[in-house]
Amino acid sequence: MEGDPHHSGCSGSSTGPILPEWAPEGGGEGFYSEVRPGTEADSAPHRPRKRRTELSMDDYEKGVLSGDRTILARAITLVESNLAVHQEKAAELLRRVQPKSGNCIRVGITGVPGAGKSTLIEAIGTKLCREGHKVAVMAIDPSSTRSGGSVLGDKTRMEELSREPNAFIRPSPSGGALGGVARKSRETLVLCEAAGFDVALIETVGVGQSEVTVRSMVDFFLLVLISGAGDELQGIKKGVIELADLIAINKADGDNVLRARAAMTDMNQVLHYLQPATEGWASRAVTVSAETRDGLDELWKTILEYEKNTRKSGVWDNRRRNQDVEWMHSMINEALRNLFYRDPVIQTLLTRLEGEVAAGRLPPAAATLELLSQFTSRR
Ligand code: GDP
Repeated sequence: MEGDPHHSGCSGSSTGPILPEWAPEGGGEGFYSEVRPGTEADSAPHRPRKRRTELSMDDYEKGVLSGDRTILARAITLVESNLAVHQEKAAELLRRVQPKSGNCIRVGITGVPGAGKSTLIEAIGTKLCREGHKVAVMAIDPSSTRSGGSVLGDKTRMEELSREPNAFIRPSPSGGALGGVARKSRETLVLCEAAGFDVALIETVGVGQSEVTVRSMVDFFLLVLISGAGDELQGIKKGVIELADLIAINKADGDNVLRARAAMTDMNQVLHYLQPATEGWASRAVTVSAETRDGLDELWKTILEYEKNTRKSGVWDNRRRNQDVEWMHSMINEALRNLFYRDPVIQTLLTRLEGEVAAGRLPPAAATLELLSQFTSRR
Protein backbone atom coordinates (compact mmCIF):
# COMPACT_ATOMS: atom_id res chain seq x y z
CA MET A 1 0.00 0.00 0.00
CA GLU A 2 2.95 2.33 0.61
CA GLY A 3 3.29 4.93 -2.11
CA ASP A 4 -0.38 4.64 -3.04
CA PRO A 5 -1.65 8.23 -2.90
CA HIS A 6 -5.26 7.12 -2.66
CA HIS A 7 -4.80 4.64 0.16
CA SER A 8 -7.44 5.35 2.73
CA GLY A 9 -7.38 2.35 4.99
CA CYS A 10 -10.14 0.71 2.99
CA SER A 11 -10.23 -2.44 1.04
CA GLY A 12 -11.39 -2.64 -2.52
CA SER A 13 -10.86 -0.57 -5.61
CA SER A 14 -10.90 3.21 -5.45
CA THR A 15 -13.63 3.58 -8.02
CA GLY A 16 -16.68 1.50 -7.04
CA PRO A 17 -18.35 1.25 -3.62
CA ILE A 18 -16.01 -0.24 -1.00
CA LEU A 19 -16.36 -1.63 2.50
CA PRO A 20 -14.17 0.04 5.19
CA GLU A 21 -11.86 -2.30 7.12
CA TRP A 22 -13.60 -1.48 10.39
CA ALA A 23 -17.07 -2.37 9.13
CA PRO A 24 -18.55 -5.30 11.11
CA GLU A 25 -18.90 -8.51 9.21
CA GLY A 26 -22.30 -8.81 7.64
CA GLY A 27 -22.98 -5.14 8.55
CA GLY A 28 -24.91 -4.66 5.36
CA GLU A 29 -24.72 -2.01 2.67
CA GLY A 30 -25.00 0.83 5.18
CA PHE A 31 -21.21 0.68 5.59
CA TYR A 32 -20.28 0.94 1.95
CA SER A 33 -18.54 4.11 0.93
CA GLU A 34 -16.90 5.49 -2.15
CA VAL A 35 -13.39 6.87 -2.35
CA ARG A 36 -12.46 9.40 -5.01
CA PRO A 37 -9.04 10.82 -5.83
CA GLY A 38 -8.23 13.77 -3.57
CA THR A 39 -8.29 17.31 -4.87
CA GLU A 40 -5.25 19.55 -4.94
CA ALA A 41 -6.49 21.44 -1.88
CA ASP A 42 -6.92 18.18 0.07
CA SER A 43 -3.35 17.11 -0.52
CA ALA A 44 -1.92 20.46 0.66
CA PRO A 45 -4.17 21.46 3.54
CA HIS A 46 -1.75 23.95 5.08
CA ARG A 47 -0.93 25.86 1.95
CA PRO A 48 -1.63 29.57 2.50
CA ARG A 49 -4.93 30.67 0.98
CA LYS A 50 -4.70 32.33 -2.38
CA ARG A 51 -4.98 36.11 -2.13
CA ARG A 52 -8.22 37.49 -3.39
CA THR A 53 -7.90 39.18 -6.73
CA GLU A 54 -7.86 42.96 -6.59
CA LEU A 55 -11.04 44.49 -7.94
CA SER A 56 -10.91 47.57 -10.11
CA MET A 57 -13.20 50.49 -9.38
CA ASP A 58 -15.32 49.47 -12.38
CA ASP A 59 -15.58 45.91 -10.97
CA TYR A 60 -16.79 47.31 -7.66
CA GLU A 61 -19.27 49.63 -9.31
CA LYS A 62 -20.69 47.01 -11.68
CA GLY A 63 -20.75 44.37 -8.95
CA VAL A 64 -22.61 46.53 -6.46
CA LEU A 65 -25.10 47.84 -9.01
CA SER A 66 -25.84 44.34 -10.28
CA GLY A 67 -26.50 43.18 -6.72
CA ASP A 68 -23.51 40.80 -6.56
CA ARG A 69 -23.44 39.92 -2.87
CA THR A 70 -19.78 38.95 -2.74
CA ILE A 71 -18.72 42.25 -4.24
CA LEU A 72 -21.20 44.13 -2.05
CA ALA A 73 -19.63 42.51 1.03
CA ARG A 74 -16.15 43.45 -0.20
CA ALA A 75 -17.30 47.02 -0.90
CA ILE A 76 -18.65 47.26 2.65
CA THR A 77 -15.31 46.01 3.94
CA LEU A 78 -13.67 48.92 2.07
CA VAL A 79 -16.10 51.36 3.65
CA GLU A 80 -15.41 49.94 7.09
CA SER A 81 -11.64 49.99 6.73
CA ASN A 82 -9.62 52.64 8.51
CA LEU A 83 -6.78 52.47 5.96
CA ALA A 84 -6.41 55.69 3.98
CA VAL A 85 -6.06 53.84 0.67
CA HIS A 86 -9.31 51.94 1.30
CA GLN A 87 -11.09 55.10 2.37
CA GLU A 88 -10.13 56.82 -0.88
CA LYS A 89 -11.45 53.89 -2.90
CA ALA A 90 -14.61 53.78 -0.81
CA ALA A 91 -15.21 57.50 -1.35
CA GLU A 92 -14.88 57.10 -5.13
CA LEU A 93 -17.19 54.08 -5.16
CA LEU A 94 -19.79 55.92 -3.08
CA ARG A 95 -19.61 58.89 -5.41
CA ARG A 96 -20.36 56.57 -8.33
CA VAL A 97 -23.22 54.57 -6.80
CA GLN A 98 -24.89 57.23 -4.66
CA PRO A 99 -27.26 58.32 -7.48
CA LYS A 100 -28.63 54.76 -7.55
CA SER A 101 -29.39 54.71 -3.82
CA GLY A 102 -32.42 55.99 -1.94
CA ASN A 103 -35.10 53.66 -3.31
CA CYS A 104 -35.62 52.06 0.08
CA ILE A 105 -37.68 52.25 3.24
CA ARG A 106 -35.22 52.78 6.08
CA VAL A 107 -36.52 51.53 9.41
CA GLY A 108 -34.64 52.00 12.68
CA ILE A 109 -35.39 49.61 15.52
CA THR A 110 -34.42 50.18 19.12
CA GLY A 111 -35.19 48.73 22.54
CA VAL A 112 -33.21 47.38 25.45
CA PRO A 113 -31.48 44.00 25.18
CA GLY A 114 -34.01 41.24 25.62
CA ALA A 115 -37.00 43.21 24.30
CA GLY A 116 -37.04 40.96 21.24
CA LYS A 117 -35.55 43.18 18.53
CA SER A 118 -33.62 40.41 16.80
CA THR A 119 -36.58 38.03 16.92
CA LEU A 120 -38.80 40.77 15.51
CA ILE A 121 -36.34 41.65 12.75
CA GLU A 122 -36.03 37.99 11.84
CA ALA A 123 -39.82 37.63 11.67
CA ILE A 124 -40.49 40.83 9.70
CA GLY A 125 -37.44 40.36 7.49
CA THR A 126 -38.41 36.81 6.57
CA LYS A 127 -41.98 37.86 5.83
CA LEU A 128 -40.83 40.70 3.57
CA CYS A 129 -38.30 38.54 1.73
CA ARG A 130 -41.01 36.02 1.00
CA GLU A 131 -43.19 38.80 -0.36
CA GLY A 132 -40.42 39.65 -2.83
CA HIS A 133 -38.63 42.47 -1.01
CA LYS A 134 -34.87 42.59 -0.72
CA VAL A 135 -34.08 43.21 2.91
CA ALA A 136 -30.81 44.54 4.32
CA VAL A 137 -30.36 44.12 8.07
CA MET A 138 -27.74 46.21 9.79
CA ALA A 139 -26.80 47.08 13.33
CA ILE A 140 -25.26 50.06 15.03
CA ASP A 141 -23.57 49.26 18.25
CA PRO A 142 -20.63 51.44 19.24
CA SER A 143 -19.59 48.92 21.88
CA SER A 144 -19.22 46.09 19.40
CA THR A 145 -15.89 44.71 18.26
CA ARG A 146 -15.17 42.29 15.46
CA SER A 147 -14.67 39.48 17.92
CA GLY A 148 -18.13 39.61 19.39
CA GLY A 149 -20.56 42.48 19.49
CA SER A 150 -23.75 42.30 21.45
CA VAL A 151 -25.94 43.26 18.48
CA LEU A 152 -26.08 40.78 15.61
CA GLY A 153 -22.69 39.62 16.73
CA ASP A 154 -23.82 36.13 17.44
CA LYS A 155 -24.09 34.32 14.14
CA THR A 156 -26.57 31.81 15.49
CA ARG A 157 -29.18 34.55 15.65
CA MET A 158 -31.52 35.19 12.73
CA GLU A 159 -30.95 31.72 11.37
CA GLU A 160 -34.16 31.64 9.39
CA LEU A 161 -33.62 35.06 7.85
CA SER A 162 -30.01 34.35 6.98
CA ARG A 163 -31.18 31.47 4.79
CA GLU A 164 -33.40 33.77 2.72
CA PRO A 165 -31.75 34.56 -0.60
CA ASN A 166 -33.25 38.06 -0.53
CA ALA A 167 -31.78 38.96 2.87
CA PHE A 168 -28.40 40.51 3.57
CA ILE A 169 -27.31 40.68 7.20
CA ARG A 170 -24.38 42.80 8.25
CA PRO A 171 -23.29 43.09 11.90
CA SER A 172 -22.30 46.41 13.40
CA PRO A 173 -19.00 47.81 12.17
CA SER A 174 -16.47 48.01 14.93
CA GLY A 175 -15.02 51.45 15.26
CA GLY A 176 -15.06 52.61 18.81
CA ALA A 177 -16.63 56.05 18.76
CA LEU A 178 -20.24 56.33 17.69
CA GLY A 179 -19.29 58.90 15.03
CA GLY A 180 -17.07 56.43 13.20
CA VAL A 181 -19.58 53.59 13.47
CA ALA A 182 -22.36 55.84 12.20
CA ARG A 183 -20.38 57.02 9.18
CA LYS A 184 -19.58 53.44 8.19
CA SER A 185 -23.21 52.40 8.64
CA ARG A 186 -24.55 55.26 6.53
CA GLU A 187 -22.16 54.37 3.75
CA THR A 188 -23.06 50.70 4.02
CA LEU A 189 -26.69 51.71 3.65
CA VAL A 190 -25.89 53.62 0.44
CA LEU A 191 -24.14 50.54 -0.97
CA CYS A 192 -27.00 48.20 -0.02
CA GLU A 193 -29.56 50.50 -1.60
CA ALA A 194 -27.49 50.80 -4.77
CA ALA A 195 -27.40 46.98 -4.81
CA GLY A 196 -31.20 46.89 -4.95
CA PHE A 197 -32.22 46.39 -1.32
CA ASP A 198 -35.55 48.13 -0.89
CA VAL A 199 -36.03 47.64 2.85
CA ALA A 200 -33.34 48.39 5.45
CA LEU A 201 -33.83 47.32 9.05
CA ILE A 202 -31.27 49.00 11.28
CA GLU A 203 -31.04 47.74 14.84
CA THR A 204 -29.53 49.52 17.79
CA VAL A 205 -29.58 49.05 21.53
CA GLY A 206 -31.88 51.47 23.34
CA VAL A 207 -29.36 52.85 25.75
CA GLY A 208 -27.10 55.82 25.19
CA GLN A 209 -26.78 58.04 22.17
CA SER A 210 -26.96 55.46 19.41
CA GLU A 211 -30.73 55.72 18.97
CA VAL A 212 -30.44 59.44 18.19
CA THR A 213 -27.86 58.54 15.57
CA VAL A 214 -30.07 55.87 14.04
CA ARG A 215 -33.06 58.22 14.04
CA SER A 216 -30.94 60.62 11.99
CA MET A 217 -30.49 58.07 9.21
CA VAL A 218 -33.91 56.41 8.94
CA ASP A 219 -37.37 57.27 7.67
CA PHE A 220 -39.27 55.42 10.36
CA PHE A 221 -38.30 54.66 13.92
CA LEU A 222 -39.70 51.73 15.86
CA LEU A 223 -39.30 51.30 19.59
CA VAL A 224 -39.71 47.77 20.96
CA LEU A 225 -40.87 47.53 24.58
CA ILE A 226 -42.16 44.74 26.78
CA SER A 227 -44.91 44.87 29.33
CA GLY A 228 -44.59 44.27 33.01
CA ALA A 229 -41.81 46.73 33.67
CA GLY A 230 -42.00 50.46 34.17
CA ASP A 231 -40.18 52.36 31.47
CA GLU A 232 -37.45 53.32 33.95
CA LEU A 233 -36.85 49.65 34.50
CA GLN A 234 -36.54 49.08 30.81
CA GLY A 235 -33.81 51.67 30.68
CA ILE A 236 -35.72 53.65 28.09
CA LYS A 237 -35.52 57.37 28.51
CA LYS A 238 -38.44 59.64 27.74
CA GLY A 239 -36.28 61.15 25.02
CA VAL A 240 -36.26 57.84 23.17
CA ILE A 241 -40.05 57.53 23.31
CA GLU A 242 -40.20 60.96 21.72
CA LEU A 243 -38.17 59.71 18.77
CA ALA A 244 -40.52 56.81 17.99
CA ASP A 245 -43.05 56.75 15.16
CA LEU A 246 -44.43 53.51 16.51
CA ILE A 247 -44.06 51.62 19.77
CA ALA A 248 -44.43 47.85 19.57
CA ILE A 249 -45.20 46.18 22.88
CA ASN A 250 -43.64 42.80 22.13
CA LYS A 251 -44.24 39.34 23.63
CA ALA A 252 -48.02 39.76 23.53
CA ASP A 253 -48.58 36.02 23.61
CA GLY A 254 -49.65 33.30 26.05
CA ASP A 255 -50.70 34.67 29.41
CA ASN A 256 -48.90 37.92 28.69
CA VAL A 257 -51.52 39.21 26.23
CA LEU A 258 -53.57 41.16 28.76
CA ARG A 259 -50.54 42.81 30.34
CA ALA A 260 -49.24 43.76 26.90
CA ARG A 261 -52.59 45.32 26.00
CA ALA A 262 -52.60 47.31 29.25
CA ALA A 263 -49.08 48.54 28.50
CA MET A 264 -50.24 49.54 25.03
CA THR A 265 -53.08 51.62 26.49
CA ASP A 266 -50.69 53.30 28.95
CA MET A 267 -48.23 54.04 26.21
CA ASN A 268 -50.90 55.51 23.94
CA GLN A 269 -51.84 57.87 26.76
CA VAL A 270 -48.23 58.95 27.20
CA LEU A 271 -47.83 59.48 23.45
CA HIS A 272 -50.91 61.66 23.40
CA TYR A 273 -49.08 64.29 25.46
CA LEU A 274 -45.78 64.18 23.63
CA GLN A 275 -44.61 66.13 20.64
CA PRO A 276 -44.92 63.82 17.59
CA ALA A 277 -41.64 62.41 16.32
CA THR A 278 -42.67 63.12 12.74
CA GLU A 279 -44.66 66.14 11.65
CA GLY A 280 -48.23 65.19 10.73
CA TRP A 281 -48.00 61.63 12.06
CA ALA A 282 -49.56 60.60 15.36
CA SER A 283 -47.20 58.06 16.93
CA ARG A 284 -49.05 55.14 18.46
CA ALA A 285 -48.47 51.91 20.38
CA VAL A 286 -49.48 48.44 19.23
CA THR A 287 -49.02 44.93 20.59
CA VAL A 288 -47.11 42.27 18.67
CA SER A 289 -45.57 38.88 19.21
CA ALA A 290 -42.34 38.31 17.34
CA GLU A 291 -42.58 34.68 18.36
CA THR A 292 -46.10 33.84 17.17
CA ARG A 293 -45.83 36.61 14.56
CA ASP A 294 -49.20 38.04 15.60
CA GLY A 295 -49.57 41.70 14.70
CA LEU A 296 -46.63 41.78 12.30
CA ASP A 297 -48.75 42.20 9.16
CA GLU A 298 -50.46 45.19 10.79
CA LEU A 299 -47.11 46.57 11.91
CA TRP A 300 -45.78 46.53 8.35
CA LYS A 301 -49.04 48.03 7.05
CA THR A 302 -48.59 50.89 9.52
CA ILE A 303 -45.12 51.53 8.14
CA LEU A 304 -46.53 51.62 4.59
CA GLU A 305 -49.33 53.93 5.70
CA TYR A 306 -46.71 56.21 7.26
CA GLU A 307 -44.71 56.20 4.05
CA LYS A 308 -47.78 57.08 1.99
CA ASN A 309 -48.82 59.93 4.30
CA THR A 310 -45.43 61.49 4.74
CA ARG A 311 -44.51 61.22 1.07
CA LYS A 312 -47.74 63.00 0.21
CA SER A 313 -47.15 65.78 2.71
CA GLY A 314 -43.50 66.19 1.68
CA VAL A 315 -42.25 65.35 5.18
CA TRP A 316 -40.52 62.19 3.90
CA ASP A 317 -38.38 63.97 1.29
CA ASN A 318 -37.79 66.91 3.54
CA ARG A 319 -36.43 64.72 6.31
CA ARG A 320 -34.11 62.93 3.89
CA ARG A 321 -32.74 66.23 2.58
CA ASN A 322 -32.16 67.47 6.12
CA GLN A 323 -30.51 64.19 7.07
CA ASP A 324 -28.08 64.51 4.16
CA VAL A 325 -27.14 68.06 5.15
CA GLU A 326 -26.74 66.96 8.76
CA TRP A 327 -24.57 64.06 7.61
CA MET A 328 -22.37 66.45 5.66
CA HIS A 329 -21.92 68.60 8.77
CA SER A 330 -21.03 65.64 10.93
CA MET A 331 -18.40 64.56 8.38
CA ILE A 332 -16.98 68.10 8.30
CA ASN A 333 -16.80 68.02 12.11
CA GLU A 334 -15.02 64.68 12.06
CA ALA A 335 -12.55 65.79 9.40
CA LEU A 336 -11.76 69.09 11.15
CA ARG A 337 -11.28 67.38 14.46
CA ASN A 338 -8.87 64.90 12.88
CA LEU A 339 -6.92 67.67 11.15
CA PHE A 340 -6.55 69.51 14.42
CA TYR A 341 -5.80 66.69 16.85
CA ARG A 342 -3.49 64.78 14.50
CA ASP A 343 -1.31 67.81 13.76
CA PRO A 344 2.06 67.14 15.46
CA VAL A 345 2.69 70.82 16.29
CA ILE A 346 -0.75 71.08 17.88
CA GLN A 347 -0.18 67.85 19.80
CA THR A 348 2.99 69.23 21.40
CA LEU A 349 1.47 72.62 22.14
CA LEU A 350 -1.68 71.00 23.49
CA THR A 351 0.26 68.90 25.99
CA ARG A 352 2.07 72.01 27.26
CA LEU A 353 -1.07 74.16 27.47
CA GLU A 354 -3.04 71.42 29.22
CA GLY A 355 -0.44 71.58 31.97
CA GLU A 356 -0.72 75.37 32.15
CA VAL A 357 -4.51 75.25 32.35
CA ALA A 358 -4.49 72.46 34.94
CA ALA A 359 -2.06 74.46 37.09
CA GLY A 360 -4.34 77.50 36.91
CA ARG A 361 -1.71 79.63 35.18
CA LEU A 362 -3.64 80.01 31.93
CA PRO A 363 -7.41 80.47 31.45
CA PRO A 364 -8.97 77.80 29.18
CA ALA A 365 -10.21 80.45 26.74
CA ALA A 366 -6.71 81.87 26.28
CA ALA A 367 -5.30 78.38 25.70
CA THR A 368 -7.98 77.69 23.09
CA LEU A 369 -7.21 80.95 21.32
CA GLU A 370 -3.51 80.20 21.21
CA LEU A 371 -4.08 76.71 19.84
CA LEU A 372 -6.48 77.87 17.16
CA SER A 373 -4.32 80.75 16.03
CA GLN A 374 -1.33 78.39 15.83
CA PHE A 375 -3.50 75.96 13.81
CA THR A 376 -4.89 78.51 11.35
CA SER A 377 -1.59 80.35 10.86
CA ARG A 378 -0.03 77.17 9.50
CA ARG A 379 -2.61 76.55 6.84
P1 GDP B 1 -33.03 41.54 21.68
O1 GDP B 1 -31.91 41.52 22.66
O2 GDP B 1 -33.89 42.75 21.87
O3 GDP B 1 -32.59 41.39 20.26
O4 GDP B 1 -33.98 40.31 22.04
P2 GDP B 1 -34.07 38.85 21.39
O5 GDP B 1 -34.73 38.92 20.05
O6 GDP B 1 -32.74 38.23 21.45
O7 GDP B 1 -35.10 38.15 22.39
C1 GDP B 1 -34.81 37.98 23.76
C2 GDP B 1 -35.59 36.78 24.27
O8 GDP B 1 -36.97 37.03 24.19
C3 GDP B 1 -35.34 35.52 23.46
O9 GDP B 1 -35.25 34.44 24.33
C4 GDP B 1 -36.55 35.41 22.57
O10 GDP B 1 -36.85 34.08 22.24
C5 GDP B 1 -37.63 36.01 23.45
N1 GDP B 1 -38.70 36.62 22.66
C6 GDP B 1 -38.55 37.50 21.64
N2 GDP B 1 -39.74 37.84 21.12
C7 GDP B 1 -40.68 37.16 21.84
C8 GDP B 1 -42.10 37.10 21.79
O11 GDP B 1 -42.78 37.73 20.97
N3 GDP B 1 -42.72 36.31 22.71
C9 GDP B 1 -42.04 35.60 23.63
N4 GDP B 1 -42.73 34.88 24.48
N5 GDP B 1 -40.68 35.63 23.70
C10 GDP B 1 -40.01 36.40 22.82
